[in-house]
Amino acid sequence: MTLPDLPARVAAAGLVIDGHLDLAYNAVLAGRDLTLPLDDLRRREGPGARDVATVTLPELRAGRVALVLGTLFCLPRGDAAPGGYTTPAEARAQALTQLDTYRRWQDAGLVRLLTPGPDVAAHLHAAALDPHGTPTGVVLLMEGADALRTPDDLPFWVDAGVHIIGPAWKRTRYAAGTGTPGGLTDAGRDLIRAMHEQRVTLDASHLAEQAFWEALDLTGDVIASHSNARARVPTDRHLSDDMLRAVAARGGMIGAVLYSGFLRPGWQRGHPPATRDDTRAMLAHLGAVAGWDHIGLGSDLDGGFGQHEFPDGLDRAADLTHVADLAPPGWRAALRAGNWARWLTRPR
Ligand SMILES: [Zn+2]
Repeated sequence: MTLPDLPARVAAAGLVIDGHLDLAYNAVLAGRDLTLPLDDLRRREGPGARDVATVTLPELRAGRVALVLGTLFCLPRGDAAPGGYTTPAEARAQALTQLDTYRRWQDAGLVRLLTPGPDVAAHLHAAALDPHGTPTGVVLLMEGADALRTPDDLPFWVDAGVHIIGPAWKRTRYAAGTGTPGGLTDAGRDLIRAMHEQRVTLDASHLAEQAFWEALDLTGDVIASHSNARARVPTDRHLSDDMLRAVAARGGMIGAVLYSGFLRPGWQRGHPPATRDDTRAMLAHLGAVAGWDHIGLGSDLDGGFGQHEFPDGLDRAADLTHVADLAPPGWRAALRAGNWARWLTRPR
């Protein structure tokens, strides 16, 4: 199979690619057994669960979600996270435990850890031939770089299969982040330079705006795995139109994040979900500004939210395919998986 055929094969098979799921975080820090069918996990957790589960590994396979960017997400200690890390060593321990979780799932035949390029192409080809019989592929993404004790730790994580790093979540030792304005630190500049040299993609989601522009002076290999348009939902969690255009101009991807509060301004927990029109309008803005060929899904379905926090029509991971139907007809397959497939198999 030649690479130009790949998006067509992926589209014909109805495959889905999701640019952001926190699978191992949910297993380790939230104690969820993601090897269960989703309905079994929901029964186990009961109707009173704060975040009603939407993602398990069998659910992804049932939904033809052939590949995800799966995070190593280190949670800093905070009011809502008394078990979070306070030191680089503790952050590293969190990331190592999550890495081990993905490896154990792989050993059990439940996921496949993948490297961008021919490895991803071969996997998607197999998934297109047998969507329900092929384990979901995972490309590892580190969200929040405090697990690197110094930038000298980067080769270790590259060897472990981390291909994408988002330096910030909130503020880290490397960069200012969501709700914490500012730029890169000296260590952050060293990290971005090392990432560029070692061909690790920068994930700009959660970077504060000043840090975003400073980082783009140091590398052009950039995506935003789970961010929307600030023009529609005005917080620093999302990208300005200039930032969206900058990611697209460098060949990068923007994963649309599907939390209701990131689709409808002013939405809060307990409100009715964002509507299909809210989702359609956000996708339309992203597509108009960045170009539809740079937009994919970055659902964050398991990023501290649940079934009631997602927009109308999105009850569970198997519904991700329907989100793409909110794009113009000519771009649905591209949004569903084709754009991510092209980016993940690009020559580099
Ligand atoms: Zn995030």
